[in-house]
Amino acid sequence: MAIRRAPRVCGFSNPLRRSPCCGRIVSRYWLHHGYPRARYRRGVRAWIVDRPGPVASGPVRLVERPVPEPGPGELLVRVICCGVCRTDLHLAEGDLAPRAPGITPGHEVVGEVAAAGPGAGRFRPGDRVGAAWLAGTDGTCRYCRRGAENLCPASVYTGWDRHGGYAEYLTVADAFAHPLPDGFSDAELAPLLCAGIIGYRALRRAQVPPGGTLGIWGFGGSAHLAAQIAMGQGADVHVFTRAPAARELALRLGVASAQDSFDPAPVPLDSAIIFAPVGDLVPAALQALDRGGTCAIAGIYLTDIPPLNYDRHLFQERTLCSVTANTRGDAAEFLTLAQRLAIRVTTTAYPFGQAGRALADLAGDRIHGAGVLILDQNGTSG
Ligand SMILES: [Zn+2]
Ligand SMILES: [Zn+2]
Repeated sequence: MAIRRAPRVCGFSNPLRRSPCCGRIVSRYWLHHGYPRARYRRGVRAWIVDRPGPVASGPVRLVERPVPEPGPGELLVRVICCGVCRTDLHLAEGDLAPRAPGITPGHEVVGEVAAAGPGAGRFRPGDRVGAAWLAGTDGTCRYCRRGAENLCPASVYTGWDRHGGYAEYLTVADAFAHPLPDGFSDAELAPLLCAGIIGYRALRRAQVPPGGTLGIWGFGGSAHLAAQIAMGQGADVHVFTRAPAARELALRLGVASAQDSFDPAPVPLDSAIIFAPVGDLVPAALQALDRGGTCAIAGIYLTDIPPLNYDRHLFQERTLCSVTANTRGDAAEFLTLAQRLAIRVTTTAYPFGQAGRALADLAGDRIHGAGVLILDQNGTSG
């Protein structure tokens, strides 16, 4: 797409409409009018996964490309900040094969609607919206039809199939953009959009009964948010992790107990969630379950599970299940509860220009809380 210079006079004022000077839709408005100033001169800056490899080899590169245009049913979103998730690191390092060349990572995107394409009517320019991992489904398969869109074989993902939020602008399907709750800063909202939603899905899958007990194995980004929701709903939470700092954080957040990964549970557990990607934890968690308890494995990846003993690990109607992605319903519920229960989020900010350093810090476990890339108002940060 050629970038044109702005004409001197146009009179086009409503970014929701077509430009009367040229008939093109909304985003071209900027190319003609220079809003934001300088945008028409240099396009949009975006990080792309250039050559996937070890993070030390610099797999991401900053490029400039034309302002994306929102197609039918899409929004053009100006990125305010974007969380740095471990999945971005997997993509950069090649563990997760890119689904498009030069893809821009980032699926915890907090932004402002800049323009709406034809037929996109849920949001108005200026609204704060979130873009999360699930970016689209076919809406017609047997899973979508029964409300399990997280299992849709045709689903596409932000920052994997579609350009993500490590950029000044991105386009988002209107139907998959999330309204965001008040009570959080932009940076605090970012990790809620992946770690938070996935943790919440895991919590639902673990079926904690009212006033029940929940064991959580591994206590990182997802776990510390899910634990707060569970406690807000009246559960007693017991944390199992080998990291002393994570045990301290858990106790500060108010959990009933925190111990090492393979320590025995202090009480029989109604539910368990395994966040750590360690198959050896499965028998330990199952053994800690009370009769009728449920153990949910939250991760997308798990090392091999050792042999189970029917009597010690499964009998008495204990259930073992996995968790796959999330639905938009999970996201809406979680964001509502996050506000209602005033959950606390810890973040570390990085200027937009330092995406490479943020990924390296994530790889080296040097980020306190969730890393978040911050873009400034003029898109000139970093
Ligand atoms: Zn489907
Ligand atoms: Zn993520």
